[in-house]
Amino acid sequence: MSVPTIGNIVFELTEACNQCCRFCYNYWRDGSTPLPPPDPKLARKTLRRLLSQASVGTISFSGGEPMLLKNIHDLALAARFKGTHVNVLTNGTMLTEDALTNFVSLGVGAIQIPILSANAAVHEYLTQLPGSWAKATDALRRVAAVMPTGAYAVLVITAVNAPGVPQTLQLIYDSGVRNVMVNRFNIGGMGLRNCRELVLKPEVLKQAFADVEAFAVAHPDMHFVSGVCTPLCLLDVSPYPHIKFTWCSTDFSRRPVAVSYKGDVRFCNHSPKVIGNIWERPIGEILSDPETVARYAVVPEKCRDCALLSRCNGGCRAASEQVYGSFAEADPILEQI
Ligand code: SF4
Ligand code: SF4
Ligand code: SF4
Repeated sequence: MSVPTIGNIVFELTEACNQCCRFCYNYWRDGSTPLPPPDPKLARKTLRRLLSQASVGTISFSGGEPMLLKNIHDLALAARFKGTHVNVLTNGTMLTEDALTNFVSLGVGAIQIPILSANAAVHEYLTQLPGSWAKATDALRRVAAVMPTGAYAVLVITAVNAPGVPQTLQLIYDSGVRNVMVNRFNIGGMGLRNCRELVLKPEVLKQAFADVEAFAVAHPDMHFVSGVCTPLCLLDVSPYPHIKFTWCSTDFSRRPVAVSYKGDVRFCNHSPKVIGNIWERPIGEILSDPETVARYAVVPEKCRDCALLSRCNGGCRAASEQVYGSFAEADPILEQI
């Protein structure tokens, strides 16, 4: 029997994390309940099952914090053995020299680490982990030294760190990193609780992207990607031609599908809605289930007559699922500004 090809999967190795970022979008993260400890055996079994059910182009190990998994290198090896590209999305605080060397030997393609500010106090205010700034900046510098094209800084722009965007980009540049994901704060998880403090007013959002654009123009060897869709009626992206804005798609071949270590499948890593479990049904069947396809084909009422719909798609509607419990609403950021 032929297996489906899935371009991009975010594989969540654990819910646990040593940080408690104020903006963390993980839907299970609302600060109210203790998180279960990592289960390396189950993660390994589920990964094997997933790789037997689909041919996966790229798998990104995420969480929670994936470096909490003692067997993360075995998992990377299992995926590489199947010809899958592997990326690691980590907060960088536990990336030891040995761990990095092993990732390089295994041919891991990219390591993404959030750097939220050039100011340690601002970074740690957001991560709520003392000492995290020095560890994250050191880890990113080491990654850039051994994986020049695979080192990615992630700058989550919130109202707290937006004023320091130029300095943060300078720090990233000085670390030798040339790839930056610039994502605006997206509502969900801990970010729901801290929304009022973190959400960007439209003029602050525009200024932050203008700062990124100016930096990109001055540093043509850098690459900037904005991966969280922002409604086009909130942010016209045409003044920022040096930032690559990506758009969400309901077609799973054009967006990352989330799979947890327990086998739960979701639309993407921001979505809280489990649409099936790979221990019960193969992932190909789950993703092509007519009920699921219909659920994600719905168009928000307020976007119905919008000329920008085919591009914008109503913004991030996984955020709508987190806030309204429905994919049928437009991005909740529109009501927060
Ligand atoms: S955003 Fe990442 S590093 Fe921060 S608490 Fe969430 S999973 Fe941990
Ligand atoms: S599709 Fe909806 S969210 Fe996007 S620009 Fe149009 S009205 Fe705004
Ligand atoms: S729903 Fe939101 S988080 Fe999910 S892929 Fe689309 S833009 Fe990204």
